[in-house]
Amino acid sequence: MLKPDRVFDGEAMQTGWVVLVKNNTIEQAGAMMFKLPAGTEIIELKGMTLLPGLIEGHSHLFLHPYNETSWDDQVLKESRAERTARAVNHAKATLMAGFTTVRDLGTEGAMYDDAGLKKAIEKNVIPGPRMIVATRAIVAKGTYGPKSPSPDVDLPQGAAEVAGLEDLASEVRTQIAKGADLIKIYADYRWGPNKEAMPTFSTEAIALATTIAQSGGRKVVAHATTAEGMKRAILGGVSTIEHGDKGTEEVFKLMKEKGVALCPTLAAGESILQYDGWKKGVDEEPQKIIAKKKSFQLALKTGVTICMGGDVGVFAHGDNAKEMELMVEYGMKPIDVLRSATSVNSDVFGYADKIGRIKKGLFADLIAVEGDPSTDIKNIRKIKLIIKDGIVYKKE
Ligand SMILES: [Zn+2]
Repeated sequence: MLKPDRVFDGEAMQTGWVVLVKNNTIEQAGAMMFKLPAGTEIIELKGMTLLPGLIEGHSHLFLHPYNETSWDDQVLKESRAERTARAVNHAKATLMAGFTTVRDLGTEGAMYDDAGLKKAIEKNVIPGPRMIVATRAIVAKGTYGPKSPSPDVDLPQGAAEVAGLEDLASEVRTQIAKGADLIKIYADYRWGPNKEAMPTFSTEAIALATTIAQSGGRKVVAHATTAEGMKRAILGGVSTIEHGDKGTEEVFKLMKEKGVALCPTLAAGESILQYDGWKKGVDEEPQKIIAKKKSFQLALKTGVTICMGGDVGVFAHGDNAKEMELMVEYGMKPIDVLRSATSVNSDVFGYADKIGRIKKGLFADLIAVEGDPSTDIKNIRKIKLIIKDGIVYKKE
């Protein structure tokens, strides 16, 4: 039985609560109105807040920060063995940062190795978070990367290329068969005449992918940064838009109307600009940051459901809380950010009956932090206790 100062149950901050865990399940959560089973260990968490294990909404466990090695070089020059070895470390770092679940949105050239990594974690071969995996992700032929310097040389790509509708349908089915929990499709990418992002698939193509995936009980998520790409993805029936940088009022209204959530990945944008030399707090704010703040605030104002997902891998695994801090910095209330990282992510991803809340019957995925993260989001980094699936990974 856990006795913290306060409990964030996934929706609201509660005081006077205790939480009883049996095996891998939450048995009781609330005021101490039940009889304590004989032999129960009582863990006092003085000065701490107990929360549901955090859910990372957008990670790439098979990538590491681009200021260490460029994305192209990771895809082209690192062996699958090296990438897996790194992913093992990344999985552990993620769990030890209090993220007991990750939605991993593409191996970027490492084929179906996320499905294998997930199995290894489930078998307790290595420590790591629960994984919701995309496997390879789907891109339109010729639009993705690495880009070849010569038309005579075909380079391996960071995702599965498809050309026509038949191809797309077949790829969706293949990825599901190989272990995909969801399908990720790139609704736009940088293939314009000036390397700008342009839409890749028609609404019809995206709708075909969602129809097939939904038949198999899987959701489709879309990478989209342009207004047109976002629009086609929304109308095509995807569940989340990843990035959404150039969302307009019209697009965000459509998202709200269709119940499509936004995963803003603020930390990826900030990281890449800093790798390019931006000194945050010293230099002037880059145009891209100003625009991203504006579109994020527009999405908030329009009432779009906001997921928490940083595009981890672009920056260091284990530093996942960076996205939560930036969400506050960009205008969200800390309590809403906590909701995004727990109940909202679990609801949007379709896992509300398993994770994301401190509620009787859900999996015992719990963390305790020092202080109150709803008054200062930075407290989310002060992790003192980590329990995943009833197993204690950290206890200070
Ligand atoms: Zn990503």
